[in-house]
Amino acid sequence: MTPEAARQLAATGVDAQFWSGLGDGAVRLPQCPECDRWVWPAQPSCPGCLHAELAWRDVEPVGVVYSWTRTWYPFVAVRAADLPYVVVLVELPAAGNVRVLGVYAGDSADELVVGEPVRGQILAPSDRTYGLPSLTWARGAPAG
Ligand SMILES: [Zn+2]
Repeated sequence: MTPEAARQLAATGVDAQFWSGLGDGAVRLPQCPECDRWVWPAQPSCPGCLHAELAWRDVEPVGVVYSWTRTWYPFVAVRAADLPYVVVLVELPAAGNVRVLGVYAGDSADELVVGEPVRGQILAPSDRTYGLPSLTWARGAPAG
């Protein structure tokens, strides 16, 4: 995927409000206004009750590690210099335990533990992220 294609998809795809939310400094995820189900990855309608529209809500980026992997392969050329890096799948209790992917912001040699608390940070667009803002995760206690 070219950087232009990635930006076009982020601007027009079903998850466009996620990307515009990151641009606003917020993690914004869809929730069904009819049955309250959180829907991620984004879909055009609720997979639970088939309600036709979802409401996008800001969610505090605090969660727990569901899974993670250390990446040694340059899937995208712009990240080759970052190898190895850790990709983490984070479960968000404040959003119905949907799981959101992101790059781990700590040391790539860290051994994450399933269930440990992490906090999201939104990074400004860069060439390494095809000009899109990105959501990274760091170890941290949940907000009190
Ligand atoms: Zn629903």
